[in-house]
Amino acid sequence: MDVRRSLPAVDTLLAHPAVAAARARHGHRLVRRAVRQTLDEAREQLTGDRKAGEIADGDVLAATALARLTELARPASRAVFNLTGTVIHTNLGRSTLAEAAIAAMTDAARHPTALEYDLEDGERGDRDRLVEDLLCELTGAEAATVVNNNAGAVLLALGALGAGREALISRGELIEIGGAFRMPDIMQAAGCRLREVGATNRTHPRDFTSAIGEHTGLIVKAHTSNYAITGFTKSVPESTLAEIAHAHGVPLLIDLGSGALADFSALGLPYEAQPNDAIAAGADVVTFSGDKLLGGPQAGIIVGRRAAIATIKRHPLKRALRLDKLTLAALEATLRLYRDSDALERDIPTLALLTRAEAEIAATGERLLPHASDLLSDFEVTLAPCASQLGSGSLPVDRLPSRALTWRPRADQRRQRERQLQRLETALRRLPRPVIGRLNDGALLLDLRCLAGEAEIAAFLGQLEQLPRLYGAAPPGGQA
Ligand SMILES: *Cc1c(COP(=O)(O)O)cnc(C)c1O
Repeated sequence: MDVRRSLPAVDTLLAHPAVAAARARHGHRLVRRAVRQTLDEAREQLTGDRKAGEIADGDVLAATALARLTELARPASRAVFNLTGTVIHTNLGRSTLAEAAIAAMTDAARHPTALEYDLEDGERGDRDRLVEDLLCELTGAEAATVVNNNAGAVLLALGALGAGREALISRGELIEIGGAFRMPDIMQAAGCRLREVGATNRTHPRDFTSAIGEHTGLIVKAHTSNYAITGFTKSVPESTLAEIAHAHGVPLLIDLGSGALADFSALGLPYEAQPNDAIAAGADVVTFSGDKLLGGPQAGIIVGRRAAIATIKRHPLKRALRLDKLTLAALEATLRLYRDSDALERDIPTLALLTRAEAEIAATGERLLPHASDLLSDFEVTLAPCASQLGSGSLPVDRLPSRALTWRPRADQRRQRERQLQRLETALRRLPRPVIGRLNDGALLLDLRCLAGEAEIAAFLGQLEQLPRLYGAAPPGGQA
């Protein structure tokens, strides 16, 4: 007899009391899908040498179907704990928003807004208007516009100002940012001809003056945000580049990448270039991200001279890259904080995490350590000094002193230790709110810099006890 015949029919499993009860919450369709998948899987297993009776048991199948249902019902976009030590983590969504920005975004989601409507005279308006004055005020620029992200901002600016002509850039600045943003490729996509000048480590003013000519569309300077060239180096100051560009009647575009709106030295952080410095140096167009050191939503911000910004706004790509009302609301609220807040490092989460005192992180660690240390007998857990980084290419060589819960496998053999680490990483990822750490020197580090605030710490602690089950370990005291 075929053992697969012993499996219940879909309708039978659907009628199981526990499964039927789940229908009220998850709906018939999703429950049916979970049941189907469970039975398909059981059928496959039964072709192996498993014991038919165990697999085909109705209660066991119902429990499996419910577990699958929980998985199917879980949203794909989910909150995680970023304990990687990289504060602005591109793969984890970069900056989290200020409360004021969240409130503004929620309000804009719930109601119609005056997005492109001038409330003064009741006529059609321009959506840039919502943030343009603020951006000019904060950067000293004459005009501003905003698009989907900084890659889009650079693409648009290059296309509007330099299509069909040469874009001059130093060989030391042909940057690649993660996720296929490469300056040479962006220039090509924008229709500019890349003209490299100088050398990788040294570029002089004469390199630009000898290259500039009738085919030049613009000069480009890119902030080398995710690497540093050190040693025998030289680059041309922005003000000199601006002089050279303007003497030949072409604009200077500076891609700042992060573009901090706050004075980082005043916050006790390493210095980071600010848009207003670039504007003051004479740049015609400056671009930067909304969700890096600015601490706002994903956006590409373009500030600069009135004529250049007007040309950019007229380009068809501007419409294709425009921001939606939710992002604009969040961006405006974040920018307002830079104008009004007397405590940016309190109100903007990215700045709060970057400026968090080492002693406070250590205190969080001391609180967590007793709860973590005896959970898994395979590991020795300690609280160890570590170094967080800013991330997203910001200030690549600077590190911030921090503390990490450090899980070091106890096994004697290297292969076994690697397997234990892998299981731990997987178990942490399977927690209701996944915990993402980083591997370093044979241990798993949970950098506590970004675990701030009572609610976050409580949420983390609240799910820690599920770790042994997900790791597949024996309960404390037992054999692992
Ligand atoms: C991050 C970065 C970009 C890309 O910005 P996104 O907002 O991620 O599109 C471009 N240029 C530089 C120098 C950057 O640092």
